Amino acid sequence: MSVVRYDHIVIGAGALGAAAAYWLSAAGRGRTLVCEQFAAGHPWGSSDDHSRIIRHAYHSPIYTALTPSAYRLWGEVEARAGERLLIRSGGLDLAREGSAGHDVMRLYGRSMDAAGLPYEEFGAAELRRRWPDWHVPDDTVALYQAEGGLIDIRAATAAHLRLATRQGAQVLEECLVHDVESGDDGVVVHTSRGTFAAGALVMCAGSWAGGLLDRLGSPFPLELTQEQVQYFTVDDAARFTPDRFPIWIWHADHEIYGIPVYGERAVKVARDMTGKFVTPETRGHIPDPAETEFVRAFVREILPAWAGELALAKTCVYDLPRDRELVIGALPGNPRVFVAVGAGHAGKFATLIGRALADLVTEGGTPYAVEPFSPGRPGLAADAPALYRLGIRELT
Ligand SMILES: Cc1cc2nc3c(=O)[nH]c(=O)nc-3n(C[C@H](O)[C@H](O)[C@H](O)COP(=O)(O)OP(=O)(O)OC[C@H]3O[C@@H](n4cnc5c(N)ncnc54)[C@H](O)[C@@H]3O)c2cc1C
Repeated sequence: MSVVRYDHIVIGAGALGAAAAYWLSAAGRGRTLVCEQFAAGHPWGSSDDHSRIIRHAYHSPIYTALTPSAYRLWGEVEARAGERLLIRSGGLDLAREGSAGHDVMRLYGRSMDAAGLPYEEFGAAELRRRWPDWHVPDDTVALYQAEGGLIDIRAATAAHLRLATRQGAQVLEECLVHDVESGDDGVVVHTSRGTFAAGALVMCAGSWAGGLLDRLGSPFPLELTQEQVQYFTVDDAARFTPDRFPIWIWHADHEIYGIPVYGERAVKVARDMTGKFVTPETRGHIPDPAETEFVRAFVREILPAWAGELALAKTCVYDLPRDRELVIGALPGNPRVFVAVGAGHAGKFATLIGRALADLVTEGGTPYAVEPFSPGRPGLAADAPALYRLGIRELT
């Protein structure tokens, strides 16, 4: 059995794996192989859609310590790709005054204060003055951050992969990794298209990561939820383009978010955390009409112009570590295996995560503050509480 040798192997050509391949193959950091079980750009992972929200407004300073760099790195990739990937629309966080959702927004404010990032806070009257389509209760509070917006996640993933290939990376599609041998100096990867060796492995396997992580003695479990997004038609799409209407998140028992017209002639609305727990085998691809009705009924209340006909709905998967924070770093007990888990909110950070992983693999360190996301942290342990199973009241 001949074993072909590379410097780095990346499992997964989704948003995170493609970004890692781009940064690993940049600046002559050695030969990179990407193994993707399906065709690149397939619709079954977590990165196949028109848009993902990008924002500075986060519940913890460990994120606002990174968001400015994420924006800067996206700018670099856009310049290399000659393509716009980040569209700024402004970002709104909304809640009822004094509610648990309002407490979450206060955390956002504190995180941005810690990073010196500007934002505005105002009430329902000012919200309606700026965007008259909002039909919110009078006690609604708003936090506005001008740099909020969207990442074209499908285009960003394709651009990273295209640039990585141009820089010499090899992408093997229909290449399922079924086993990994990990040692102090490198790895051997067994796949449906042969056996490959490398000095390091970067695992960005998304919702399929559980099996391989277990085989590598990973200390942390992952749970999966099936999520769903809806695209609703609007009477006048021109009124709701990103240059005229912001992305928004409504914070209450259910967090509902919206993205203006992009990619479809429709607006996008979804609930964060449907709570439908699945496995890679039981995950379905047929959208649930009840979920669509739940979301549309909510929108009909506060933003009726967005509660149009269903243009498109699609399912997707969250890969959830116990504390629902990102996972980035070397896998304990496997010095040459590096892992990233998106926890359902890594689209905005994809290029930064890819860069940090490439730095860790090739330099042994990175200037990006990713230590809080280490795979060995106690909050990930099997006996740690699964925070995503707790309601918003318990979390704030
Ligand atoms: C509905 C929804 C909304 C979201 N909204 C936002 C948002 O607004 N903002 C934000 O920042 N983030 C958001 N996210 C999160 C973001 O999309 C994900 O964190 C990100 O796309 C994860 O990328 P990934 O590369 O880890 O996973 P994936 O795209 O799933 O890629 C993993 C890849 O690995 C491959 N693979 C797995 N196992 C193997 C194997 N054994 N051999 C070979 N290949 C393998 C898979 O085929 C797949 O292509 C959202 C996610 C969902 C589901």
